[in-house]
Amino acid sequence: METDQAPRIIPIAVGGRFAFDCNPGVACFNACCRDLSQVLTPYDVLRLSRGLGLRTGEFLRRHTACRIGPGSGLPVVSLVPGDPAERTCPFLLPSGCRVYCDRPSSCRTYPLMRAVRRDRVTGRLSEEFLLLREPHCGGFETGPVRTPAEWVAEQGLAPYHAENDRLLEVISVKNRLRPGPLPPPAAGEVAACLYDLDRLRDGLDGSDPRQLGPEAELFAAARTDDLALLHLGMERVKRLLAQPNAGRATQGETAWS
Ligand code: SF4
Ligand code: SF4
Repeated sequence: METDQAPRIIPIAVGGRFAFDCNPGVACFNACCRDLSQVLTPYDVLRLSRGLGLRTGEFLRRHTACRIGPGSGLPVVSLVPGDPAERTCPFLLPSGCRVYCDRPSSCRTYPLMRAVRRDRVTGRLSEEFLLLREPHCGGFETGPVRTPAEWVAEQGLAPYHAENDRLLEVISVKNRLRPGPLPPPAAGEVAACLYDLDRLRDGLDGSDPRQLGPEAELFAAARTDDLALLHLGMERVKRLLAQPNAGRATQGETAWS
């Protein structure tokens, strides 16, 4: 166990390796699921709601809070702790994580952190990994040695990274076209398109595919394909951000369906 009290963030060189193991036998089992401040990405919300058999709106109402990020001006959705005093994750059971198969990307990534950078000229993304060594975590004492790529594969992170990188594209469009906070109606619409995907799907019935332009292909797939639905939501947000009057409409959508 680490003896120093402050967490340490250690860059991992390309091809670098780290030793780690987490299992029900460690003395600190479940310690990292307390004192929670868990932000969820749109793909996290999709996976968790599907895993729990809830509509996205029901999941969002029961388990999350939404605020506007001071940096991005975009909605930020986070898990509401089950036990307010200990700030315990609502999905934590004595036996472990109740939603393990669909746990959020940050839970899968720990003890790593993934930093992504976009090249301003080519638009290409590059990633690097950092190791977060926290004093309460005994997982570093034993365990197999792996590279970050091996950890990513083992934790099933590839689809999370793909969808989270798509979200970065939305954030980049937002920062370019609409810096600063969005007016509440637009922020509510952005939140609904990114997170309340079942509501978005419900609304497809009233749309005319001939009016959809580049979204037409996604529109057809989104009726049955959840990933296409998520991509449609992201494209809609980009389109909304490109409209100079977005947010001045009266149709504010701040509540989940
Ligand atoms: S989702 Fe699971 S792994 Fe993540 S904090 Fe909650 S209980 Fe822990
Ligand atoms: S604190 Fe570390 S070793 Fe303990 S349960 Fe959490 S991740 Fe596993």
